[in-house]
Amino acid sequence: MLEIKNLHARIAEDGTEIIRGLNLKVKAGEVAAIMGPNGSGKSTLSYILAGRSDYEVTEGDILYNGESILGLDPSERAAKGIFLAFQYPVEIPGVATMQFLKVAMNEQRKARGEEELKTPDFIRLVKEAAAGLHIDMNMLKRPLNVGFSGGEKKRAEILQMKLLAPQLCVLDETDSGLDIDALKIVSDGVNALRSPDRAVIVITHYQRLLEHIVPDSVHVLYKGQVIKTGDKDLALDLEANGYAGIIEAAA
Ligand code: ADP
Ligand code: MG
Ligand code: MG
Repeated sequence: MLEIKNLHARIAEDGTEIIRGLNLKVKAGEVAAIMGPNGSGKSTLSYILAGRSDYEVTEGDILYNGESILGLDPSERAAKGIFLAFQYPVEIPGVATMQFLKVAMNEQRKARGEEELKTPDFIRLVKEAAAGLHIDMNMLKRPLNVGFSGGEKKRAEILQMKLLAPQLCVLDETDSGLDIDALKIVSDGVNALRSPDRAVIVITHYQRLLEHIVPDSVHVLYKGQVIKTGDKDLALDLEANGYAGIIEAAA
């Protein structure tokens, strides 16, 4: 589903190269974990996948279902089913979460050439998805993320994911310091999304998350490259021994 080939990318503003020859393959049905020390370029990779304009690809390619997505803007990528959990502003004051969800769903439909959702249909879809996540409809009348607890933010994020039903999901959990509640919401949400025609990339510092979301593959990112790929045991090895051995071996 996703093939990243010799990707080089830099910060548009000052030209600093962050991604330096990165290769990665993720198949449909797979849950891939990306780990690596702070500053390796994990979040940058997720922004580049989403198509953010503050990064420039200078070499290599990103193939999604066999086609390059480098020429597509973020909304075109979203319409093709690529979802980045943190691509939206953290807090959106003044816009009820419901309204935000409606706009996001209709943008996706528009990009696909589909008709706008009728309000009753939209409300039914949200109610169904919210019930499964134990989300109170009153929470969705509040502005997105404004004053939400950590657990509520995670629920809102998983709700967006359920409603937009992406084919490729990228979740960057690196710096968010998930508490037990949020950890459970994220892992249940991701596990519920597992399907033969969907791929999930989970970016995390913590082996702890991977005890709940057991990955099919684990990739270690360091200085903008994938320096090691393995299965779930690689995450256990990293937890026990740290990154130093792998970094030395790669050098
Ligand atoms: P990680 O998510 O693995 O911790 P990041 O992708 O956040 O790493 O950052 C990788 C490196 O790129 C870091 O050294 C960071 O300071 C730098 N970086 C990323 N984006 C920018 C930016 N927009 N401006 C300046 N430096 C950036
Ligand atoms: Mg970081
Ligand atoms: Mg990060």
